[in-house]
Amino acid sequence: MIPATFDYEVAESVDHAVELLGSGKDAKLLAGGHSLLPLMRLRLARPELLVDIGRLSDLSYVREDGDAIAIGALTRYRDLEQSDLLRAECPIVASMSGLVGDPQVRHRGTIGGSVAHTDPASDAPTVLLALDAELVVNGPGGERRLPVAESFGGFLQTALDPQEVLPEIRVPKTGDGGWAYEKFNRRAQDWATVAVAAVRMNGGAHVGLTNMGATALRAAGVEEALAGGVDPAAAAERAAEGTSPPSDHNASGEYREHLARVLTRRALEQALS
Ligand code: FAD
Repeated sequence: MIPATFDYEVAESVDHAVELLGSGKDAKLLAGGHSLLPLMRLRLARPELLVDIGRLSDLSYVREDGDAIAIGALTRYRDLEQSDLLRAECPIVASMSGLVGDPQVRHRGTIGGSVAHTDPASDAPTVLLALDAELVVNGPGGERRLPVAESFGGFLQTALDPQEVLPEIRVPKTGDGGWAYEKFNRRAQDWATVAVAAVRMNGGAHVGLTNMGATALRAAGVEEALAGGVDPAAAAERAAEGTSPPSDHNASGEYREHLARVLTRRALEQALS
């Protein structure tokens, strides 16, 4: 289908994008366009104004910043996958990026667009949630930082204000201290039917779930069981606790719960071995 008509502006900086978002029109940022444009073509989104931030090349980077790795929101999956710094200091982000879609998607899609789009089937939000990543957000009131968990508003809904831009994502340096991202899909280039991220950090294990509810989720029952000294296989049995997986043409909710338990066990065995 053809999208409804819209105005189009190119942002020259983050501040300019914030200003354009405040124009009074129903405006949306455009990054890689791989999630927004399909929604517009289906007329599930009908913004009056598209603010193109895709040319802000200074928002594409992976750099060391003290204890964290700073990732520009416009960094594309292909660059994340290839980043030597990420491979050494936070390998789960590089590995997850290599599992997103197909090469064309990985060359266009951005990590910031994925976080702001808040699709529960997307890979990046789950991995960032497991890592306790922090977002740097710019709006009319200046800059603020918030945990990625607080940026999820609901199914395909960000909790960022409509006039806010996400320029940077900060992840901890985990080194190769134990991690896994187990993604189950019917074809290699598909979204996850279910996926599980496990990271050994802060003296325990953090576990994130993809496509098990309205947003990416933490497997709180699993983390609690592990903290109580339960072995990984037994802890994984609690993976579906507190989740509400969808039933669709790929899998029933019940099958997704089964997958969550199996993938969590595999992810924990790898991350904690
Ligand atoms: P856009 O589509 O440009 O924007 C998405 C939303 O985020 C919009 O609402 C936009 O306004 C907002 N936004 C964008 N950037 C910012 C910012 N910096 N600050 C604030 N708001 C912002 N994803 C997966 O995770 N796994 C997959 O396996 C997968 N497979 C795919 C297969 C296909 C065929 C396609 C087309 C897409 C697939 N995707 C997959 C989604 C893809 O990764 C998207 O590109 C990504 O999720 C969104 O990034 P984008 O740069 O394209 O965002």
